Amino acid sequence: MAVQHVPENLPERIQHFIGGEFTDSIDGDTFGVLDPVSNENYLEAAAGKQGDIDRAVVAARAAFDEGPWPRMLSRERARVLNRIADIVESRDERLAELETFDSGLPITQALGQARRAAENFRFFADLIVAQSDDTYKVPGKQVNYVNRKPKGVAGLITPWNTPFMLESWKLAPALASGCTVVLKPAEFTPLSASLWPEIFREAGVPDGVFNLVNGIGEEAGDALVKHEDVQLISFTGESATGKLIFANAAPTLKGLSMELGGKSPAVVFADADLDAAIDSTVFGVFSLNGERCTAGSRILVERAIYDEFVARYVQRAENIEVGNPHDPATEVGALVHPEHYAKVTEYIEIGKTEAKLAAGGGRPAGLESGNYVAPTVFVDVPPSARIFQEEIFGPVVAITPFDTDEEALRLANDVRYGLAAYVWTADLERAHNFGQGIDAGMVWLNSHNVRDLRTPFGGVKASGLGHEGGYRSLDFYSDQQAMHISLAPVHTPKFGVGEEDRG
Ligand code: NAD
Repeated sequence: MAVQHVPENLPERIQHFIGGEFTDSIDGDTFGVLDPVSNENYLEAAAGKQGDIDRAVVAARAAFDEGPWPRMLSRERARVLNRIADIVESRDERLAELETFDSGLPITQALGQARRAAENFRFFADLIVAQSDDTYKVPGKQVNYVNRKPKGVAGLITPWNTPFMLESWKLAPALASGCTVVLKPAEFTPLSASLWPEIFREAGVPDGVFNLVNGIGEEAGDALVKHEDVQLISFTGESATGKLIFANAAPTLKGLSMELGGKSPAVVFADADLDAAIDSTVFGVFSLNGERCTAGSRILVERAIYDEFVARYVQRAENIEVGNPHDPATEVGALVHPEHYAKVTEYIEIGKTEAKLAAGGGRPAGLESGNYVAPTVFVDVPPSARIFQEEIFGPVVAITPFDTDEEALRLANDVRYGLAAYVWTADLERAHNFGQGIDAGMVWLNSHNVRDLRTPFGGVKASGLGHEGGYRSLDFYSDQQAMHISLAPVHTPKFGVGEEDRG
């Protein structure tokens, strides 16, 4: 039985935060939130509906139309963003403690995510201060410049894996751009998001700029997507939800950024540094409990090293520490929710009929309750298998051998997703050529997911639409108005003066 760490001073209920005030839902409705170790409800969260979203959008709109935020100098907004980063950093341990309790993420990894959240604010603070926009000169005739303007009210809809960090990933560029926002966090994990209001208040974010509405996706999320006065939606979540949101946003023609699911390949060639490749591919799928969009959940291994790779990989997977998420020694904690646990374990049962189980395969010994899954390795997985094709989003990996580069590329691209890919080889030409051939938004050569915040982030195919990351995020939250100035009289054909004088 895993030991349970319960943080002190846990709230028993959490509210919305609208126009600078904490508030319940208009109809008083709430939903229960459980922790993934005891699977018992420890919290009631306000369940937002259409009326609550309406209130939040009105507050965000007023702050946008009348408040100082969109009109501030970049330096002033950057100061506030840096204060947010300072506060997040100063509370990283509390944040990680709450995140771990609510989501089941191992504490050391939750701490890393809290620090990354602070870094997101610092990064976008730097970016807006250093930002320049284009001007175009037509000598003697015209000068044109770009007038960048925040888009308006941004709806931010986030998933439950690394909740606080992913919220920061949207909040930082949206606020940096001068937008006002309505955040709808994932209903499985609303606890850490309940810290944002105080953080923003202390940092000096004006009332109405940041609004938080908790609730169920199909209710609060849906109302936000369909709201006429919301100019854009930044969504991270499942591909199926993304498709629905795309359709629901069409009647109000919103800007959309879609960060969706993945089934990313890690391709290991025989000439790779095998020690490093094993470290990396083990971490790449089992970190964050495998609940990671960029997880390298399909490992393709060149036949010449396949047996050795599998033997070593399985040994490592079997040694992974699974247990109490709050224990710093834990490497894989508890999956977020019993519903997700049921989904992951169902895939494991499917996998047993499709391929050879080499490690794990269910609940680890000694952990009879809580959403624990032993790191699970399937080998000799055929590309037609569902565990090769479908996103499981848990500590489950499919390993498949290949014989040639062509076959490896075909296998790498043979899924509907295209988020990330990892290529392991010592051959420079192959690394570039192979990497460039993969249908993925992001490719790492001889590395797991280590990302510079300036680089594009996003997927292709069913993994997403649009790229955020660096200035691309600022572009998403801004309009770029083209201003055309004439420097000399403009030749204008004179309509309505008769054929001879028309010019
Ligand atoms: P999900 O799609 O079930 O939910 C995500 C969010 O959308 C939640 O806040 C939910 O309440 C809301 N939602 C659900 N239905 C909605 C609707 N009809 N209208 C508006 N909002 C709605 O996803 P999840 O299970 O929370 O997260 C896991 C998924 O997220 C995985 O597929 C994972 O790959 C993906 N993900 C992608 C990235 C990326 O950057 N590409 C990052 C993290 C997670």
